[in-house]
Amino acid sequence: MYDVIVIGSGPGGYVAAIRCAQLGMKTAIIEKYSTLGGTCLNVGCIPSKALLDSSEHYHNAAHTFSTHGIELKNLKVNLGQMISRKDDVVKQNVDGIQFLMKKNKIDVHQGLGSFVDAHTIKVSKEDGTSSEIHGKNIIIATGSKPSSLPFIKLDKDRIITSTEALKLKEIPKHLVVIGGGVIGLELGSVYARLGSKVSVIEFMDSIIPTMDRTMGKELQKSLKKIGFEFYLKHKVTSVENTGKEVSVKADNGKGEVVEIKGDYVLVSIGRRPYTDGLNAEAAGVKLTDRGQIEVNDHLQTSVSHIYAIGDVVKGAMLAHKAEEEGVFVAETLAGQKPHINYNLIPGVVYTWPEVASVGYTEEQLKEKGIKYKAGKFPFMASGRARASMDTDGLVKVLADAETDEILGVHMIGPRTADMIAEAVVAMEYRASAEDIARMSHAHPTYTEAFKEACLAATDNRALHI
Ligand SMILES: Cc1cc2nc3c(=O)[nH]c(=O)nc-3n(C[C@H](O)[C@H](O)[C@H](O)COP(=O)(O)OP(=O)(O)OC[C@H]3O[C@@H](n4cnc5c(N)ncnc54)[C@H](O)[C@@H]3O)c2cc1C
Repeated sequence: MYDVIVIGSGPGGYVAAIRCAQLGMKTAIIEKYSTLGGTCLNVGCIPSKALLDSSEHYHNAAHTFSTHGIELKNLKVNLGQMISRKDDVVKQNVDGIQFLMKKNKIDVHQGLGSFVDAHTIKVSKEDGTSSEIHGKNIIIATGSKPSSLPFIKLDKDRIITSTEALKLKEIPKHLVVIGGGVIGLELGSVYARLGSKVSVIEFMDSIIPTMDRTMGKELQKSLKKIGFEFYLKHKVTSVENTGKEVSVKADNGKGEVVEIKGDYVLVSIGRRPYTDGLNAEAAGVKLTDRGQIEVNDHLQTSVSHIYAIGDVVKGAMLAHKAEEEGVFVAETLAGQKPHINYNLIPGVVYTWPEVASVGYTEEQLKEKGIKYKAGKFPFMASGRARASMDTDGLVKVLADAETDEILGVHMIGPRTADMIAEAVVAMEYRASAEDIARMSHAHPTYTEAFKEACLAATDNRALHI
């Protein structure tokens, strides 16, 4: 009898298992694939960032090195090597999780986990054998899979998801991306930097529509410079693989049908919670209408000793959100009183420029009727950004009109994925814009743009603009 059985080894599951073990619980983890780490390490965060880094190096070598005074001859892409380096990075990371399981004395059971009853899980291996394990508590962390539209047949050849886009054998001449969200724009960026024309079709009137609207507008301008084109407010109605080509048809909202032809189409319209084969009903665990596992504020399912975390429950589908929930459940099981502030989970888009955001957007503040003031600072005015030729973008700080408390920070620019951490710390400690404006930021760094935006938010006091 284990104290805890975790089903799924993504960032939610493996972090939950480590924290349970640290807190003295006898812990098992079940993973249906042969490698640990889930979507994030195998086909998500890590491989996409590996390819984003490689393609960024190529793009800079092709487009900015000569301005820096570095001349190259016969520059070319070796896509096979790029993909193989990405595979190496994935291997190092998934092996690392295996090591962490061993170090923390967590039993790893490889196979599909399905409920037999509320305390028993059957682990079925691919070779047809199976075993049963028992747990006092169970954490479901089965994650998500790419979703599609009913009329799209994902043939994984030319009509692909993010998983296939991470291992293409050739650089598309024209990649059509359905969905202007994070995954489509990141993987679109990889191939645009390598020379593909990229057409993004988005149903909403903006890309990255759930983020502050300024971010989508600015990002669209930057991506156009590297070969993206955008079809906003277009509703895809058909997708066809005609052999060597794909044809995507979309309604442009004016009663006309637009046809976009390419050689690959990436369907990136979101992800769906994954519970196939889990047999949750056998334990009495309820699902929501959207197929998520239903949980209360303590991440407890309809059965009190069974918890669920990560992409399979409500909330942002982000690795660090899943991790926080893993720690939360482990500490709850240990009798502690943990807390997660969901409003302060940052969101990042790893395009170039990067987009990073935390707290309320301007649109949300308006909707809530909260009076706010906004301070902006463009990277064009940053000495550090000029030195590195990364002048696209800006930092926008939204602060309470009366108390000056920072309510939202939205950044688009160089290294904002790392810079957003300062905003998270500030907001966790409920800092005012003035607090940040009075703190020394090393010069020259990109972080000065955050300080300047805070100065701008407090009586328009930015110094360098
Ligand atoms: C291309 C791409 C890029 C991304 N980039 C980022 C990023 O940069 N930053 C970020 O925060 N997020 C990113 N994400 C999202 C991130 O990957 C997910 O939010 C995260 O992986 C969710 O973690 P999880 O533990 O809930 O589930 P998952 O990582 O999906 O893991 C679930 C695991 O459970 C296993 N499993 C499922 N059912 C069973 C079963 N019955 N028995 C045994 N095992 C089972 C699955 O095989 C899987 O390994 C990206 C996603 C994609 C697709």
